[in-house]
Amino acid sequence: MKYSVDKDGYYGEFGGAFVPEMLYPNIEELRLKYIDIMQDADFKKEFDALLKEYVGRPTPLYFAKRLSEKYNTKIYLKREDLCHTGAHKINNTIGQILMAKRLGKNRVIAETGAGQHGVATATVCALMGIECVVYMGEIDIARQAPNVARMKMLGATVIPALSGSRTLKDATNEAIRDWINNPVDTHYIIGSVVGPHPYPDMVARFQSVISEEIKKQLLAHENTEDPDYVVACVGGGSNAAGAFYHYLENTSVKLIAVEAAGLGVHSGESAATSVLGNEGVIHGSKTLLMQTEDGQITEPYSISAGLDYPGVGPLHAYLCKTKRAEFLSITDDEAMQAGLELCKLEGIIPAIESAHALAIFKTKKFKKDAIIVLNLSGRGDKDLDTYIKYFDF
Ligand SMILES: *Cc1c(COP(=O)(O)O)cnc(C)c1O
Repeated sequence: MKYSVDKDGYYGEFGGAFVPEMLYPNIEELRLKYIDIMQDADFKKEFDALLKEYVGRPTPLYFAKRLSEKYNTKIYLKREDLCHTGAHKINNTIGQILMAKRLGKNRVIAETGAGQHGVATATVCALMGIECVVYMGEIDIARQAPNVARMKMLGATVIPALSGSRTLKDATNEAIRDWINNPVDTHYIIGSVVGPHPYPDMVARFQSVISEEIKKQLLAHENTEDPDYVVACVGGGSNAAGAFYHYLENTSVKLIAVEAAGLGVHSGESAATSVLGNEGVIHGSKTLLMQTEDGQITEPYSISAGLDYPGVGPLHAYLCKTKRAEFLSITDDEAMQAGLELCKLEGIIPAIESAHALAIFKTKKFKKDAIIVLNLSGRGDKDLDTYIKYFDF
């Protein structure tokens, strides 16, 4: 399988596990056990039951009639915005909390930037009665107050990262330090298809429920499992990995990955890694990332906190390099307009991340009978302040 990870954790030249030696036993334990645990019948049963009864799956595949009429094509929305907590991230945290239990861990750590992954992690820890510690940059704590409050209400301890630029990268360093100091009792829940092997593969497998459902649901609507296109936004790449997963080897289904161009790809304020990035190591894997000539990570920028990441996961680096997926970039302004358009045409307020994917219809033309499935990764409630300020409501 060309687009599956190989035994060393690589997609082509991307991936691997570049971790400090002291972290090696933790990663190795997970690497040796994750596939067996995921394929265990009891694990599957518990995972599926929680996705159904707690998360609210299957999420609908909704034919967006008015949006389709406007762009003269056939657009289906995969409604991940209807998941409990408002986005796809919970699919992964449910999977990983069950993994933590099977590994005998009684404490969970995570890092978070905007707080969305922190909230999804705090949620599943509350559900399971497991201690939860979330590292978050001091700057991010100040600008994401509602998510900090949510995590605290859910019983998590939020620890500020006080070093460096006091944002996501520094929170990640603190989480890694914690894991090195607590290797026996602690599981580290990573929130996207990033990090050292086996995280990118494990997270993609947990999110693959998205395309598993799309296949069945599209068959009922269109009498085929295969759309012409699958479209998703990419921060680290987990919702896209889930939406693409069961189509990766089927090249008759075209894949479109949408990145945040911020104020413009070449404005210096962007997060369009596929255009601006080159090969390097970030968060323990070799992938594409935005960096200076001497290898310092460039601060990314996007109006949407979830896409504001200086890299992409190794699977996406490979999909980009091999041209299996087409990578498009969308500016803040284009995304905000597309988000508002979905409100007016379909009565759905999307997350600004998802609005980036919606914005491609303004620039890319599709045939009238083309079937497009767009993964609506999250709902816009968390972004209300940004919408209010931008449109001056
Ligand atoms: C976090 C987030 C994203 C970006 O993360 P991926 O791992 O790329 O999916 C996209 N949409 C929403 C709603 C998010 O919360």
